[in-house]
Amino acid sequence: MNQDERQMIINLKSYFFDLIQIEDSLLNYEEIIKAMLEIIKKVTCAADAAYFSNNSWHPQLFGLEDKVPSNHHIIMAELSHQKIVYRQPIVGLEEYDLLLLLKTDDKITGWIALKGNDDSFNELSDCVLEKLSEVSLKFLEKYRQLMKTISDKRRYKQLYRVTDKFHSSMNMNDVLGEIIFTLQEVYPSFTYYLLLSHDNHHHGDLPIKDLEYDSENTAAMQAYVTGNCQFEDSLQEKRSILYTPLKGKQGVYGVLQVIAPNTLLFPNREVEFITLLANTAGTAIENAQLYQQSKRLIKDLQLINETSHRLNSNLRLTETMSFITEQIIRSFDAEEVGFILFSEDFKESKILKGSTGFFLQKEAESYINHIKGKVEIEKEALFIGDFNQQDDPFVMQYKSIMAVPMIQSGVLKGIAVVMHSLPYHFSFETFKLLQSLVHHSTLAFTNSMLREELERMVVTDHLTKLHSRSYLDDKIHQSMNEDHEGTFMMVDIDNFKRINDTFGHQVGDDVIVQVANLIKSSIRGTDIGARWGGEELAIYLPGVSLNAGLIIAERLVKRVSECTEPQVTISCGISHWDRGIQESYAALFKRADHALYTAKQSGKNQVVVKENNSQYK
Ligand code: GH3
Ligand code: MG
Ligand code: MG
Repeated sequence: MNQDERQMIINLKSYFFDLIQIEDSLLNYEEIIKAMLEIIKKVTCAADAAYFSNNSWHPQLFGLEDKVPSNHHIIMAELSHQKIVYRQPIVGLEEYDLLLLLKTDDKITGWIALKGNDDSFNELSDCVLEKLSEVSLKFLEKYRQLMKTISDKRRYKQLYRVTDKFHSSMNMNDVLGEIIFTLQEVYPSFTYYLLLSHDNHHHGDLPIKDLEYDSENTAAMQAYVTGNCQFEDSLQEKRSILYTPLKGKQGVYGVLQVIAPNTLLFPNREVEFITLLANTAGTAIENAQLYQQSKRLIKDLQLINETSHRLNSNLRLTETMSFITEQIIRSFDAEEVGFILFSEDFKESKILKGSTGFFLQKEAESYINHIKGKVEIEKEALFIGDFNQQDDPFVMQYKSIMAVPMIQSGVLKGIAVVMHSLPYHFSFETFKLLQSLVHHSTLAFTNSMLREELERMVVTDHLTKLHSRSYLDDKIHQSMNEDHEGTFMMVDIDNFKRINDTFGHQVGDDVIVQVANLIKSSIRGTDIGARWGGEELAIYLPGVSLNAGLIIAERLVKRVSECTEPQVTISCGISHWDRGIQESYAALFKRADHALYTAKQSGKNQVVVKENNSQYK
C-alpha cells in the first residue's frame, strides 16, 4: 500500500467510526448500509457502489436499484473462497468494475461491487482493496453487535416491565394478556399461541388454545411433559416453531408456541429471551392460580364455618335442613337438594323436610334407589357427571349428581343428594366442598334430630305412641285461644280389669295399643289423640263442631267393638265449647268426665254428650 492508500483506509475507518458513534439516533439497517456505501464511494472516488448481503433465507441487495439479481447464485458460484478482489469482467455484474468479497472464516457473507470513475480507480492495489473489504466487514459486524446490544437492552427493559406487571396482578387474564402484548411488541412478525392445560376460563380475544392430552401436537405435549423447549423446523414451509413450557415452581401450566416465519432454525438468542419470558409467565400464572385457589378456599371455609355455626345455634331440624339446602343451592348452583335418612336396617328411606320439592315426588324414587344402592355398598360419596340408568327407558331429568353419605360415629345415617339437569355441571372442587360441608354438618344435624326425638318422646306416650297428657293440655289451651270451637272426648275401656285378669297384663297392654291405633286412624292430622292415663284415652278435635265430633265418636265406639282382639268395648264422654260461651279448660274436661261416667252408668259401649248445663244422648 502506498501513502495515499494508507490514508484512504484511515479515512474509511474514521468515517465508519463517526457513523457508529451516534448511538442515540442510530440508523436502521437499510440506512446504515446506504451510508456505508456512500463512505466507500467517497474514499475510493467510485461512481457507484452496491452491497449484497448473502443471507440464504433473505438475500438483500443495496444499490443496483436494490433488486436482488436473479442470477445472484451464479455470481456467488463464480466467486472463489480464496480470492477477495475480482476485477472486470464479473459475470452477472458486467457494469461494475470491481467486486470485493466479504468473508468470515469460510463463509461468504456478501460482496461490495464498485464502479469506477476514471483510470485512477483501476490503479487501486489488491492490497488496499482487501483491506477495504476487511474494514467494511468489521464495520458491519460491529454494527450488528451494537444493534444486538441495543435490542437486548430494550428487551430486558420489556422483560422487567412485564415481570413488574406480573407481580402486581393476580388476575389470570391480565397476566395472559400481558404475555401476548409483549410478544407482539418484540416479535411483530411472529405468530404465537398460548396452549393452556386445565383451562376452562374465557379469555376474550387472546390467542389461547387448549392443551389436550390427546393432542396431535406432539412437540407441544413433549414441551409440557418434559418442561424443556422443543423445536419444529419445516424446510418446506420456511418456518420454525418453538414450544416453550410455561413453568412455575410447582408445575408446568401450559406451552407457549412461537412460529417464526422465514427461518430454518429458530434463532438462539430469541429462544433465550422467549424462555425467560415464558418462565416469568409460568410463575405469574402459578401465582394467579394460587391466589384464586386461596380465595376459593377461604370462601369454602367461610361457607363451612357459617353453616356449622348456624347448625349449632339450636335451630329446629326442618329449619336446619332448609338452611343447608339454601346454602347448597346458592353456593353450588344446584337445582335439587335432598336429605334422605335410612332406617337402621336400610330398608326404609325418609325424605327430610327442608329438601327440595322434587324429592317428595314419585320420580325421585329411581334416583334415591340407585344412589342408596351404591352408597350402601361402597360407603363412599358419589360423583356422577352424566347420569343414565341402563335399564330405565326414560331419559333421566337430572344428569349431574353428587351424593355424600352422612356418617355419624361410623354409622351410615343417610345421604345428602345434590342434582342439576345439565351434565357435568358440578366441578370436582364443588364435590369436595360438599363432602366437607356434609361432614361438618352431620354432627349438628344428628344432634338436631336427637333433640327432636327427645322432645317427641316427652310429648308421646311410650306404649301407644299417642300424645302425652301434657301435650294435649297445651294444645287445648292453644286451641281455646285461637279457634272458634272444639270437641273434647274421653274414652275408657269397658271392664278392662277383666281383660287383665283373663289374659294377663301383656295382652291388656296390647288391647290398649289396639284401641289407640283405632283412634289414630279415626282422626285427622290436626286432631290430637292422647293417653290420659291407664286405659283412659282422650281426643281433642280443634275447630270441630259437636255434631261432627259425635259422628266420629259413634264410629270409633263401633269400630272398637268390632275390631279388637280380644274384643273390648269403650265408653265415650263428650264435651264441646264455642266462642259464644266463655268456659275454662277445667270445666270442659269436667263435663266430658261427667258424660263418661253417665255412659258407664248407662250400660257402657256408648257415647254420651254433656253440653253446657244440659245433658242428652
Ligand atoms: P269400667 O270400664 O266399667 O270402669 O271397668 P274397668 O274394669 O275398666 O275398671 P277401671 O277403669 O276402674 O280399671 C282400670 C284397670 O285397668 C285398672 C288397672 O289394673 C288396669 N290398667 C290401668 N292401666 C293399665 C295398663 O297400662 N296396662 C294394663 N294391662 N292394665 C292397666
Ligand atoms: Mg278406667
Ligand atoms: Mg275401664
